[in-house]
Amino acid sequence: MNVDVIVAGAGPTGLMLAGELALAGVRAVVVERLPERGGQSKALGLQPRSAEVLDLRGLLEPLMDRAIQRVPGGHFAGLRLDLDVWDTRHPYMIGIPQTRVEAVLEERLGALGVQVLRGHELTALAQDPGGVTATLRGPAGPVRLRGRYLAGCDGGRSTVRGLLEIDFPGLDGRLSSVVADITLADPDGAVPATWHLPVMTPSKAGRGYLAPIGEGVHRFLFYGPEQQDLPRDTPIGEDEVGRALLNAAGPGVKLTGIRWASRFTDASRQVESYRHGRVLLAGDAAHIHSPMGGQGLNLGLQDAFNLGWKLAAEINGWAPEGLLDTYHAERHPVAARVLANTRAQAVLLVPDEENLALRGIVAELLRLPEGNRHVAGMISGLDIRYDLPGDPHPLLGRRVPDLDLRTTGRPERVGRLLRDGRALLLSAADGTAFAEVARPWSARVGHLVASNTGELGAEAVLVRPDGYVCWAGSAGETASLVTALTRWAGSPPA
Ligand SMILES: Cc1cc2nc3c(=O)[nH]c(=O)nc-3n(C[C@H](O)[C@H](O)[C@H](O)COP(=O)(O)OP(=O)(O)OC[C@H]3O[C@@H](n4cnc5c(N)ncnc54)[C@H](O)[C@@H]3O)c2cc1C
Repeated sequence: MNVDVIVAGAGPTGLMLAGELALAGVRAVVVERLPERGGQSKALGLQPRSAEVLDLRGLLEPLMDRAIQRVPGGHFAGLRLDLDVWDTRHPYMIGIPQTRVEAVLEERLGALGVQVLRGHELTALAQDPGGVTATLRGPAGPVRLRGRYLAGCDGGRSTVRGLLEIDFPGLDGRLSSVVADITLADPDGAVPATWHLPVMTPSKAGRGYLAPIGEGVHRFLFYGPEQQDLPRDTPIGEDEVGRALLNAAGPGVKLTGIRWASRFTDASRQVESYRHGRVLLAGDAAHIHSPMGGQGLNLGLQDAFNLGWKLAAEINGWAPEGLLDTYHAERHPVAARVLANTRAQAVLLVPDEENLALRGIVAELLRLPEGNRHVAGMISGLDIRYDLPGDPHPLLGRRVPDLDLRTTGRPERVGRLLRDGRALLLSAADGTAFAEVARPWSARVGHLVASNTGELGAEAVLVRPDGYVCWAGSAGETASLVTALTRWAGSPPA
């Protein structure tokens, strides 16, 4: 089979990427080792920036229909964060099992006609100047695929990374924890009845987070002295979980079964380059870190969202020189920052006297409005600012605000205008000059006139397909708008 892009891995990153490629008319195929999606969910939370990104493509509504709950705020090492201080329509964590996020993303692939080859494990790959050849182990024997590019979205133990012998430098974990999905006898009263954030204080005896995740199942996440001494491959039995449950919830809560359990650590690693010729890495294949704060799936979704339109532009033949390399340049620092913040959170969770003293100070700082705003922006992904070239403007490189627009037609909001995956020029009502400048790019850049564009702090803004502002200016600055259009949308089609 010949395709444009082979996507290895049908986790959230691979599914999102394949959808973005297909939206831009690129032929992608997803190959997945597992014959069917497992019933277990590692992640349970979506951050505000991911909610915004999913909304940009109309995917938020179907996700919200399947969410357990949304909970205001966020947390840093179990310390509460207030997200209302950020200008977003989604100042909350969305509690939703990872499998349901994957199901929504896979339904989108079905609608876009993208094939997911389940039960096909990538076992070998070779790249040459024209493309990548992948060998898969399938149910009916080996399969060979040829693509112009391959995206390794195959998780923390990435086969793609291994086959290309790409280093994965970083730190080993110091804090071992267990995640278990469990059933309880008559849990009423003694355990929280609703999904909630793991706001907690570490203690020497250990800590546990217990919350219902639907269908009679509870998520139990715990760590204590016992877990630090056990090798990673030690089976997790009812004895160990029962002891931790007694410690976390008291004798009134009885374990009746374990649906799924796994050990994890706060190991943090990141590849040095997200691009290796015609192979790109995204999601956990490119970076791993502690799940504290609930950021991994969010990072992967947003890696894919950043990469999708750029790789599609390359394949569709209009990508300006260097566009694809901006994927690494923009996303590597974002994940590096998450690695740093999760390392910091891990320190604040270890119940040594020094760490608890440090935690006390951090808690005080987070109660200050600026401290809360800074860390809430970091954990939620709302503060991301890509280092983009151009005249300085407060919005340059930042997410476009989801403003309600006053137009001559029906009411609109910015967040609905990027659903076709094209870039967008928003300009004030008297912006005929903008219309003339943008016309040659109309196949790749939509244009909307709204009388209140000025509320964004500029007469006009150019927004990339991933919702980041790449130019902001006035009618007197159309020369720099042409530069920005050429930089992000290529030369105008002939
Ligand atoms: C306990 C826990 C809680 C977490 N909670 C959160 C949270 O609340 N919020 C959050 O944002 N993140 C959370 N995370 C992190 C999140 O689960 C991961 O970051 C996310 O799964 C990464 O997605 P991915 O698509 O990059 O990789 P994965 O989800 O690992 O998907 C990779 C896919 O590739 C497939 N694959 C692997 N090798 C091959 C091969 N050779 N050929 C074909 N297919 C292959 C795998 O089967 C898998 O389906 C949590 C993680 C843990 C462990």
